[in-house]
Amino acid sequence: MPRPLSVLFLAAEADPFIKVGGLGDVASALPRALRALSPDLDIRLVIPRHPMLNLDGHELAPVAEYALSRGGGYVMARVFETRFEGLPVYLIDGAPISTATSVYSSDMSVDGEKYAFFSLAALDLPRHLRWSPQVLHANDWHTAAAVYALSLRRDDSEFSWTKSVLCVHNLPFMGGGAGPSLSAYGIHSAAHSGLPDWARHFPLPMGLAAADAIVAVSPAYALEMLTPEYGCGLQDFLRARADVVSGILNGIDNKQFDPSTDSALTVSYNADSLHARGANKLALQTALGLPTDPQVPLLGMITRMDPQKGVDIAIAGLRLAADLPWQAVLLGTGIQYLEEEAAALQGDFPERVRAVARYDDALSRQIYAGADVLLMPSRYEPCGLAQMIAMRYGCVPLVRETGGLGDTVRPYTDLLNGTGFLFIEPSPQALVNALGEALALYRNRERWQALQLNGMAQDFSWARSAHAYESLYRKLAV
Ligand code: ADP
Repeated sequence: MPRPLSVLFLAAEADPFIKVGGLGDVASALPRALRALSPDLDIRLVIPRHPMLNLDGHELAPVAEYALSRGGGYVMARVFETRFEGLPVYLIDGAPISTATSVYSSDMSVDGEKYAFFSLAALDLPRHLRWSPQVLHANDWHTAAAVYALSLRRDDSEFSWTKSVLCVHNLPFMGGGAGPSLSAYGIHSAAHSGLPDWARHFPLPMGLAAADAIVAVSPAYALEMLTPEYGCGLQDFLRARADVVSGILNGIDNKQFDPSTDSALTVSYNADSLHARGANKLALQTALGLPTDPQVPLLGMITRMDPQKGVDIAIAGLRLAADLPWQAVLLGTGIQYLEEEAAALQGDFPERVRAVARYDDALSRQIYAGADVLLMPSRYEPCGLAQMIAMRYGCVPLVRETGGLGDTVRPYTDLLNGTGFLFIEPSPQALVNALGEALALYRNRERWQALQLNGMAQDFSWARSAHAYESLYRKLAV
């Protein structure tokens, strides 16, 4: 019988209550996968009660109300409990949360105040629940201050056995600007921590200095964080802590992303009926107003329009590769100049390109199920979900070999196990070279199908990630 294990899991967002990005998927799926893995694992999720939460069908029960000292006064925290598929979820409310108009703001004084309050209120919660977690699992800068504050409370009886895990989903976002709010709550800069001076009052580095374990969301990103290219100025500090740094790949929800049940598709299919996939390609070409040609390779991109994702590299690469036969659909919103570059590409290649500047879940699934290749030329990619979803749908990924992309896509040159195409240089020409290889192989139907089937056979389930997190928790909670 495994020993009981208790985990307090903190995140800024969690699907289905609120999802802005990949963190919302992780914070919803991972705790549920951990619960499914082991009935002895008492894991509880805590998120802010953002005003824009989706609470359809969820009853909220008030469970605690307490004050946090701030400056010379107090800020009240009110906590509500609900359940999501059996998972206990606590929602923390208070003035810094209820007055915010979005989950993340570009104004760091707003987010700094909100997430300093949330982190510290979440750390106080177990006492009010008369519960003493063995592991505090925080995610990204928003909740990293809880890890640091925990390290200051080692003498409190309720935290004497609590170990901390800080999961890094995106290192460049460190919460700079939150320092004054943390100080107001009595959490001052992390002196004597080995951190560079500039980072001592940023929540993420403070948490990284204090965490018992640091987890990056892929093994490759865990190593990359230790290098000047990806370490964002923290590489030397992180190298000194390398013994507590590891990488655990995120998963995807295999039920939510399943081409044999996905209602957004024209035709459902699985690995045994891959031929049926062609109908989805024709439907996609028709819906987008592209020539309906089953032979022409259809390239897809589904992404935030952000330089991180190498959208500019893809657009410049497609222009360079104008002589090759392809069609492309770029689905994504974000930074305006990238949306404009995508629209300009469509303007210059109206018979071949569609740029769709919106968030559209159904269309994204139709692209996964209808496109032949998914382009993902990211400059950095801590894990990346889109390439895993693509493989599950038989859409072959063409990716830059960085972070989780390198961990999940195996090169086509591996005849037995290959799942896609990789390139290293973050340049349009390097992408075009890989695209040339992909389009050449595309003509070999047998080899292409083998790539698709290898991708569809990969296990990217959350159960696999949950096993790795459970072992880490158990190793810490000795
Ligand atoms: P990120 O860094 O944005 O989290 P990921 O690849 O990890 O990148 O996850 C992105 C997720 O968001 C994928 O599930 C992808 O399908 C989805 N997505 C991104 N942009 C769009 C869009 N415009 N419409 C629909 N889904 C999108």
